[in-house]
Amino acid sequence: MRELQFIVTEGMGWLEVVTGSMFSGKSEELIKRLRRSKYARQKVVAFKHASDIRYDDSKLASHSNSFIEGIPVNSVEEMKKIFFEKYSDAQVIGIDEVQFFGAEVVKFCEDLADMGKRVIVAGLDKDFKGEPFKPMDELLARAEYVDKFQAICAVCGNPATVSQRLIDGEPAYYDDLIVLVGATEAYEPRCRKCHRIKHRDDNMGNLYFIVGTGTEIGKTHVTLKLIEGDLKNKKNVMALKPIETGAELFGESLEGSDTKKYADLLEKNVKEINTYFFKNPMSPHIAAELDGKQIFIDKIKKKIDQEIKKNEILYVEGAGGLLVPYNNRYTYLDLLIDYRKKSEVIVVANNSLGTINHTLLTIETLKRNDIMIKGIIFNNKDNNIDKVLLRDNIETIEKLSGIKILKEMKYDGGLDEL
Ligand code: ZN
Repeated sequence: MRELQFIVTEGMGWLEVVTGSMFSGKSEELIKRLRRSKYARQKVVAFKHASDIRYDDSKLASHSNSFIEGIPVNSVEEMKKIFFEKYSDAQVIGIDEVQFFGAEVVKFCEDLADMGKRVIVAGLDKDFKGEPFKPMDELLARAEYVDKFQAICAVCGNPATVSQRLIDGEPAYYDDLIVLVGATEAYEPRCRKCHRIKHRDDNMGNLYFIVGTGTEIGKTHVTLKLIEGDLKNKKNVMALKPIETGAELFGESLEGSDTKKYADLLEKNVKEINTYFFKNPMSPHIAAELDGKQIFIDKIKKKIDQEIKKNEILYVEGAGGLLVPYNNRYTYLDLLIDYRKKSEVIVVANNSLGTINHTLLTIETLKRNDIMIKGIIFNNKDNNIDKVLLRDNIETIEKLSGIKILKEMKYDGGLDEL
């Protein structure tokens, strides 16, 4: 924790803000500063909002139980009255959970600072939507000195800057105001990437990412079979193959065979299925480079976001396996991370020697990244493999991963339920 690098002359007047997400240690820091002022024999007074009844109704509480006396007040008016009646000689004034006091608290803090007081306020900088918490945004601008603290993201362990609101364990909707009777509400600190806000108009369609345990294992073949089944059930289904390498020139434009198969089955144009075709049958990052092109992840995401709004079921097939790079900073896994909680993964495994290792590695990586797995589909491509091995692959993977085996694709191309 950094210390003030300079000495504030007594009576100069000064506003400082301690801010950050929930559980970032704001109250503790405020208490520490107030306590140090007391040690310096300054007269200190602390206020907190009366609705802040986390642990004790007369002490300024923090989540780690260190406290200094704080006067609970319901409004700025009340705080002002108590201050001028009893504590107007205080040199240091602390206010905890300052965001509860509304816009008037800004003028009160400014007036105190103008009187030569040191005013230290602590509070949330952002609401659960991740938007500036009023009047903290204005206090931050007006303050002489600001410290912004981070908690630890409850999902990934990175520094957390937003308070995630959960209702019955699920991210709250943007417009959720009050807690419904019988529902449980909780908050946890999260980083930018793990913070989730649901919107009422969010599409309810199912998004499935198809992940192969390697390349050339029949992802497209399996996905086409799934689509056939959905079409038979009169589902509104769509597939995207955002990147296809090894594409061929048809006249002026490149076209890939996997994309073409989806386009034919779904009666679409290849351009509706695919975002990037590249000539060389290589990993996207190098295939793009050799074609002198760049992959824009946002363009791929925009397409996914559009299609999921229009369809009941959307399959997205990645190029190659999970850790295949799209550029030197972004892999297929990163795309799945960006869509976790909104999607599920279907793992396609080629049933052969080596499958147990490849499949378990893929599942382990997905689990570590908190990505939901719908299940595994085994593709029996080769009729000459020992049947004992094929059977054992499936049983062992199911046992060790705990993931459901959805289907088994027979060598003759039929898709069987297990
Ligand atoms: Zn995180």
